[in-house]
Amino acid sequence: MKINCNISPEFIKYIDELILLSTERQNLTFNGGKREINLEIEVKDDKVICRGEYLKKEYTHIEEKAELKLMLKRGIFQVLSKIIGRPLSPWGILTGVRPTKVIQGFIDDGLTIEEIKRELQNNYLVSPEKIEIMFKIREEQKNLLGKLQNSFNIYIGIPFCPSRCSYCSFTSYTTNRSKNLVEPYLQGLLEEINFYGNFIKERDINIRTIYIGGGTPSILSPEQIQILLERIAKKFPLDKVIEYTFEGGRPDTLTEEKLKIIKDFGVNRLSINPQTMNNSTLEIIGRTHTKEQFIRVFYKAKELGFNWINTDLIIGLTDEGFNQWRNTLEEVIALNPENITVHSLALKRAAIQKEKSPLTFKEAKEIMDFTYSIMGENGYNPYYLYRQKAMAGNQENVGFTKSGFISPYNVVSIEEIGNVLALGSGGISKVVKEGEIIRFSNPKDPNQYLEKVKKSLFNVEIV
Ligand code: SF4
Repeated sequence: MKINCNISPEFIKYIDELILLSTERQNLTFNGGKREINLEIEVKDDKVICRGEYLKKEYTHIEEKAELKLMLKRGIFQVLSKIIGRPLSPWGILTGVRPTKVIQGFIDDGLTIEEIKRELQNNYLVSPEKIEIMFKIREEQKNLLGKLQNSFNIYIGIPFCPSRCSYCSFTSYTTNRSKNLVEPYLQGLLEEINFYGNFIKERDINIRTIYIGGGTPSILSPEQIQILLERIAKKFPLDKVIEYTFEGGRPDTLTEEKLKIIKDFGVNRLSINPQTMNNSTLEIIGRTHTKEQFIRVFYKAKELGFNWINTDLIIGLTDEGFNQWRNTLEEVIALNPENITVHSLALKRAAIQKEKSPLTFKEAKEIMDFTYSIMGENGYNPYYLYRQKAMAGNQENVGFTKSGFISPYNVVSIEEIGNVLALGSGGISKVVKEGEIIRFSNPKDPNQYLEKVKKSLFNVEIV
């Protein structure tokens, strides 16, 4: 039996050393425990093609197949690590978006904490540092997990931005090109809120969190924000909501007038995202604000009574190394926001920026180690984590929080323990049912979304 497995080019893009080996062909035999597998690895252009041959012919069971797949992955990982002279990734062969979620799977299988740690290290080849972080996050989340199980949460997307950031791969539309679409889009969204508002009231559903994200929701005018939040207050029962987030995103779109409206409607968590505190980088990456603007808006929000603020930052932006990152982190920590979310740059095909992060694997690791350490010293603990393809240094995105300020919405969406109803174009709703997750989505394109709204083609799978 032949097994072919392709490692995607994205997975190995950052490994320059491998591309140098592009003409070589390596034939290796990997001894996977009691069975033997022949592994053939071909490195061609920027692709690595691995072929594995399982020598035991009578392989039939599904468990054996899963075990074989795991052995093959381990074999490939070890071989590639040997070729480049270091572990391919600190996350071993855990390549999924939600590494922390696997812990629950092992607990459900009856494994003890020590057994889980051993499993992660020996069978999934995860580094001890990352295993420690996974358990720290688990510890931080533990009081919330039970409360959020099967909870009902709402996401509302506004897919417009003042300009396109060079690294962005989200579906977002700049207002200078799609200005005329904003008002019809809002009207469509109000219709969808009406529909699901009735749906929720009829079933007496308690909403636990609401997250207005984007894009940049604060791109809406003060009147539009007022109309949106008024409709949410009218149609959704807010009495059991523990988190109501409004993603300001770009500091240049948040005026005092808008902040007051957002506060008046009971939003209790605000996100204001500088990404970096270096003005020259902000200009290069196409963000139309400065760090001074961010600081002004941050203090204004505090003055108006927002006492739960998140700031998003990115590691590995153009021209930024360790010193620039340390400067950003120290300046943001000095402001003492309740949440700081650290992203490792992950460039996808839709991004304008084509050149990858300037960070080497080693630098990205140093930066991440420094981040965990300085965050800990300043009272911030990691509370959720997720990964994407092609991240700088194969690291991760991590949400840090001061004690008592965990965002339940982020925990629900990453650990997939509750239902999320996603409104607006591109919204992907999730229904958690008896351990299974059912997804349904709205069209990504705002015009197609409006067509759907016009015909009242709403999804009603949430039963
Ligand atoms: S603000 Fe966010 S969604 Fe908008 S262009 Fe920048 S990265 Fe993309």
